[in-house]
Amino acid sequence: MPKPDVTYDTAVRSFNHENFAKLAAYPALRDALNDLCNQSSEVTLAELLEAVRDMTLTAPFADCCGVCRRHPEYLKPGGDPTYLKMAWPHAVERKGRWLKCTYRCPRCSHIWTCGYSVDAPGLI
Ligand SMILES: [Zn+2]
Repeated sequence: MPKPDVTYDTAVRSFNHENFAKLAAYPALRDALNDLCNQSSEVTLAELLEAVRDMTLTAPFADCCGVCRRHPEYLKPGGDPTYLKMAWPHAVERKGRWLKCTYRCPRCSHIWTCGYSVDAPGLI
């Protein structure tokens, strides 16, 4: 079934994010979304909205890279905590209540999967 056309004219609505705008993450997220839009010129607005929706709904399903977690620079006393950088799934396969999440480490590019029950995310 073809997806309906989504345009800024049909999708933009009135909103007030005052509760979020005062948080430091809000402008950081807007910067990231701006970058994502600018770097996704071949992606339709509908695809972008779906991706942002998916990212929002899977925010509690973050994981840490097992390769970086075992890195000597992290394991040494006073180790570099940036080796525990969080990753969020870039792909999810849902079967019933089970999510098979696929991650790509932003530090070392290692790819792995982790499973979660949809109603029991790893982090909230
Ligand atoms: Zn890694």
